[in-house]
Order: sequence, then C-alpha cells, then structure tokens
Amino acid sequence: MRTNLHNHRNFGILAHVDAGKTTITERILYITGATHKRGEVHNGTTVTDFDSQERDRGITIFAAAVSCAWDGHRINLIDTPGHVDFSDEVERSLRVLDGAVAVFDGVAGVEPQSESVWRRADRYGVPRIAFVNKLDRVGADLDAAVESIRERLHGTPLVVQLPIGRENAFVGVVDLLRMRSLVWADGRDTVEERPVPDELREEARRRRRALEEAVAERHPLALEEFCAESTISARTLSTALRDLTRTGDGVVVLCGSAYRNRGIEPLLDAVVSYLPSPLDVPAVRGTQDGEAQERAADPAAPLAALVFKVSATATGRLAYLRVYSGTMHKGDTVLDAGAGRTERIGRILRVQADRHTEVDRAVAGDIVAVIGLKAAGTGATLCAPAAPLVLEPPTVTDPVVSVA
Ligand code: GDP
Repeated sequence: MRTNLHNHRNFGILAHVDAGKTTITERILYITGATHKRGEVHNGTTVTDFDSQERDRGITIFAAAVSCAWDGHRINLIDTPGHVDFSDEVERSLRVLDGAVAVFDGVAGVEPQSESVWRRADRYGVPRIAFVNKLDRVGADLDAAVESIRERLHGTPLVVQLPIGRENAFVGVVDLLRMRSLVWADGRDTVEERPVPDELREEARRRRRALEEAVAERHPLALEEFCAESTISARTLSTALRDLTRTGDGVVVLCGSAYRNRGIEPLLDAVVSYLPSPLDVPAVRGTQDGEAQERAADPAAPLAALVFKVSATATGRLAYLRVYSGTMHKGDTVLDAGAGRTERIGRILRVQADRHTEVDRAVAGDIVAVIGLKAAGTGATLCAPAAPLVLEPPTVTDPVVSVA
C-alpha cells in the first residue's frame, strides 16, 4: 500500500482549560468514528447517539494521540495539556504536531492560558486555525472574540463564517467561501446545507467582501484576481487561506458549539484544507556522529522517530511515537540513540475512536503507539541502528511568560 503523506494531518487542540477541548475531541471522534461515510454534507437522518459517545469517551478521550479518518485523510489528533503548568508536556506535544486548532470560549474570548500557549506555538512555528466555541452561551459574541484575537494575540483573524442565530438560538453558520448555510437541526447530529437566509444575505455579502479584502492585502495571487475580477473565487480564497495559515500571516476563524454538536464538520474540513501535512513542514533536524543532519518525511529514508509520551496500561507499557523519517516495522530492532541501547518494536497500534488496531508498520509522518519498548522513555529518539540520529531538543527553551 502506498502511503500518501499529503493526506495526513497531525494536529492538536490548544485551549484554555474549560474552553471545550474535551468536548470537541469527543465530537470529532464521534463524527469520524460513528459512520463510514463522512466528509460531505448530509441530509441529516441520524439521531445523536450519546450512549456510544459515552462508551468511546472512557477508552480514547485521554489517549495521547487518536487516529481517525475524514474526507479521505488520516487525521491524528494529538493531546495537548490544557494547563500551562504542564509546560514540558506542552513543549513535547507542540513538537510532534504539524498544526493546531486554537479553541476560544465564545463569551470570554482570549484568556491568559490561551495567550501563553499561543505564544509557545508561535515560537515553534506551529500553523493554527481558530475555533470560537460555546456560541450557544448567554453573552457569546463572535465579533468580540475575534477582536480579542487581534488585540491580545496580535494575529490577523480571517473570519470565514457568520453565525446564524445568537445564544440559545444559534443553529448554524453561513459559510462565507461558498455562500451557503450549514444548519444543525435539533435532534439531528448531521449538518444540512441550505441557502443563505434572506435576512443575513446583506451581512454575509459584506463579510465576504471584508474577507476578500483582508486576503488580497496579504496574498499576491488573491490580489491579482481581486484587481482583475473585483472578487476572489472560493477556490482562490481557499488556496490563499491555506498559504496564510502555513506562513502564520493569518488566522482562519471558525465558530460553533461543541456541546450542541454544531460546527465540528466544517472544523474538520478546515483542518484538512488549511493545516499542513507532514510533507509541508520543515525536515526534522538532529545529529549523526556529531554532525548536523536533516531528515525529510520520506518513508524510504533511515528511521527516525520520537517517543513523546509513555503510559502504563493493562496491556503493558505504551509508548506514543511520531515517526519523522523512514519506516518502522513490527519486530524491528531499533536504536535508542541517546541511550546507546537497542530496543525491539513489539506491537504497533493505531488508537482509533472505538478500538486499537494493530498494524505491521508505521511510516514517516505517522503517529502510533508501540508496545514492547523496555526502557526508552519520553524524549528518546528511536532510529535505524546503521544511521543513529539524535533529534535536536526543541530549539526554543525560554521560560513561559506569565500574562495573567
Ligand atoms: P476543556 O477543559 O477545554 O477540555 O473543556 P471541556 O470540553 O471539558 O468543557 C468544559 C465545560 O464547558 C463542560 O462543562 C462542557 O460541557 C462545557 N462546554 C463545552 N463546549 C460547550 C459549548 O459549546 N457550549 C456550552 N454551553 N458549554 C460547553
């Protein structure tokens, strides 16, 4: 089987405690794991099955990384601690993900912890999109949250949705790229596509225009089209938003209510459209025999993988790995380069929404869990014995600035 790394997304959710990271994770697992046919807008018929969500929750919600599929993409959702006190864990998780969704509370907007995690992500150059959650809450205000992103995070928000209804009456969003409504009807867990409501047409047009202007200002191709056509097509906008996300020159903002199951499908679409694949991020660096080396995300290159979390489970010691280059097979002998010790890869597991699946191999760009490592701990580099590579420690080590 050929692995198409372009279709991988390794991302994490960065959030202030209570902003809704756990709920969003649950919804993502439910949506991507509950049915086989996803990645498109449905004429909803399925009734929300909270029982199965509750069942899934216990198994995977606290896993360090969970694999799921969306729209032909493999998505690895990597857990990031919500609390800045776990700063080493934050650093490690920022290191293994290629992109992130920053979640904000729709009432509180940017909060101190979201600010400090945001700054760290800046320093690691992690591309981000933003999700303003809890729009169903009394006092929720997307515009105010967007302003706080601009003011407190010094980001350039690029808002791609307009909420339909406020607070308790929040039922969906206008997708400003395709100028359609996405509505989550009560009692259903799937999204329905509808025309833009008459009363929101003018505002949607105005906001689409503002989005086009902001994008044209920052993206040459979009500017060219804007000058020639006085508008920018959805396709060009999407390409420009992807580029601006990856360079950090803009922050795509989406919104929803995870609790009410609203807004998660477009969020997954945005993860796929805007966040980078393992091929779009810089090659990982390390040293081999004292010499600096780079390893691209190439399955044919020598193996280099980083252990980013180890947890004790009933089945044994479970080590979560990010494979940066090469291919790792079940049964392989690998070198823990820092310790100068060999280890054997026992079983390789993909942790999914409702099960663990054993696989024979993991390739560059993958995130998997391994059973069988005896001593390799968090931070260890596992590599091909013939090409020992010690991955560089994170380049940024300055202490977290308290902004509370
Ligand atoms: P975390 O600490 O970021 O993981 O946040 P949780 O997902 O645990 O959510 C914190 C609290 O906010 C819980 O009581 C959730 O039920 C609630 N919550 C999460 N999302 C929403 C939402 O969209 N609307 C409302 N009203 N409450 C939410």
